[in-house]
Amino acid sequence: MLGKKVWRRLLGVDTDTVMERVEFDEDADAVVASVRPRRGRLSCGRCGRPSARHDRGEGRRRWRTLDLGELRCYLEADAPQVVCDIHGVVVAKVPWARHGAGHTRGFDDLVAWLAVHSSKTTVCELTRIAWASVGAIIARVVADARAERDPFGGLTRIGIGEISYKARAALPHRGG
Ligand SMILES: [Zn+2]
Repeated sequence: MLGKKVWRRLLGVDTDTVMERVEFDEDADAVVASVRPRRGRLSCGRCGRPSARHDRGEGRRRWRTLDLGELRCYLEADAPQVVCDIHGVVVAKVPWARHGAGHTRGFDDLVAWLAVHSSKTTVCELTRIAWASVGAIIARVVADARAERDPFGGLTRIGIGEISYKARAALPHRGG
């Protein structure tokens, strides 16, 4: 049996996430890991401000994370809503995914990296997601980079088909 430390690495979550159990979902033909944020106050999914619980939201939900070999893999958790002073009723923040995402941070980051370094066909076939999802993922990753730091050093623009995301404002210019 693999310990929680190994599962944490495989699933791409840090110690802010509590691992409850890992199961195989026959119907989904996928590995599903039940998780929850480590104890602490709930906070707004948009700004991170500590916020009071509002309700249970839409109940348990799943976020696609990095594949385990040939198998798709999901994190599953409750997704309660909170009341933020600024944003009103909003889904609470979780440590493993960006707000509004159907994928984990690790999955989003992989897709964004692949979109920069490989073809459209490669991204879609390797990650088994629709091309329409790639644009939304890149928008989230770029917004995150603007807000925090610069994981794509030197990148000023990602152009993919008809979608183009400028990141110029947030990222440093190099060599003009
Ligand atoms: Zn907020």
